[in-house]
Amino acid sequence: MSSGILGWAKIFLTLNFVQNTLLKLYHTKILAKAKISITVNRNHGKNAMSQNAPESQDSHTTRHAVAKLDARLGQMVKVLDHGFVRVIDYMGDDNAVVQAARVSYGRGTKTASDDQALINYLMRHHHNTPFEMCVIKFHIKLPIFVARQWIRHRTASVNEYSARYSIMGNDYYVPERKELKPQSLSNRQGRDGNIHDEDAKEIEKLLQSRSQQAYDDYQKLLNEDSDGNEINHNRHGLSRELARMVLPLNYYTEWYWSCNLHNLLHFLQLRLDAHAQYEIRVYAEVMYDVVKDWVPMTAAAFEKFRKEAINLSKDMLTALFMLVKAQPSDVIAYLEQNNTYSLSKREIREVANIYARETHGNI
Ligand SMILES: Cc1cc2nc3c(=O)[nH]c(=O)nc-3n(C[C@H](O)[C@H](O)[C@H](O)COP(=O)(O)OP(=O)(O)OC[C@H]3O[C@@H](n4cnc5c(N)ncnc54)[C@H](O)[C@@H]3O)c2cc1C
Repeated sequence: MSSGILGWAKIFLTLNFVQNTLLKLYHTKILAKAKISITVNRNHGKNAMSQNAPESQDSHTTRHAVAKLDARLGQMVKVLDHGFVRVIDYMGDDNAVVQAARVSYGRGTKTASDDQALINYLMRHHHNTPFEMCVIKFHIKLPIFVARQWIRHRTASVNEYSARYSIMGNDYYVPERKELKPQSLSNRQGRDGNIHDEDAKEIEKLLQSRSQQAYDDYQKLLNEDSDGNEINHNRHGLSRELARMVLPLNYYTEWYWSCNLHNLLHFLQLRLDAHAQYEIRVYAEVMYDVVKDWVPMTAAAFEKFRKEAINLSKDMLTALFMLVKAQPSDVIAYLEQNNTYSLSKREIREVANIYARETHGNI
């Protein structure tokens, strides 16, 4: 009987030992994993000038880093009167684009030895997915009316300051005097011309006093002053989610905005354009500077094949080509001899082919 109990006790202790050993192994693995994740964290909060700057625990990284962009991490670039753009983090660089493209082309890439040429090719032919391998995360402070335009770009991830949870700051946008312009007569969506100095002063005064009045009302509704103290002890304040209704569209909001490079370039293409409203364009300009530091080869290709390229209709093209009175073969010879814009052989051939098609029928 007693030997039976001893036997069971032995089995129990052995099982216990095995279980403890397995648990130890498991925890060691977890800890090892945690260590790895701490080691690869980039030191992105180091230069932060604003709140919410994350401090990582170790600056060592084995990931690809772009020195120029690392120097920007956490740095605020002022936009408009109270707004800013700052880069929080990023993943990938020009190499990541090239690397991804080479996976798809495999051996064929031996001919596309030049990375810039490969990126140009991808950009030109809308081979977009390699650009999606790079991702960037911004912290943006912007007027609500700009945010409304911005949020239409659905292919980004956004997390916005909650005015249900927190009290809005008293920051509102008043355009600089030079930006106070009348309604454009040629472009119904824009502004153009000048406003008389005296009128501009009046407008400025009105924007300032109305904005401030709105904030005073906001605090009155909340029943809280800017330090969070109760104003009137004998009444309840209105909830934050409702009190904010009195704040106009020129009040500033903030968000984290994360986007892959392909979609960011699409955003920039639309918002750097002269047709975009000035107040969103100035943000796009700062972000484009960031892109130039981050992925210079991609930026060069974007500049050449998207930003500065134009989309001509078939009829516009025909009209333009009709001005050139030459044989298609002469076009090739001319472009080869006067190639001040460094067109590739392939581009020259394509231009000549389009020219021939539009002016001499099918070739
Ligand atoms: C100068 C200017 C003036 C504008 N004026 C107005 C205006 O007066 N009124 C107004 O309402 N908007 C206006 N817009 C906003 C515009 O119509 C687009 O909503 C905005 O530019 C976002 O573009 P997008 O949809 O291409 O971008 P994203 O939302 O980032 O989408 C990127 C691409 O993904 C694809 N995609 C995303 N979602 C879908 C979907 N649901 N179905 C199919 N394809 C999808 C499309 O190919 C799209 O081009 C204006 C924009 C600009 C730049």
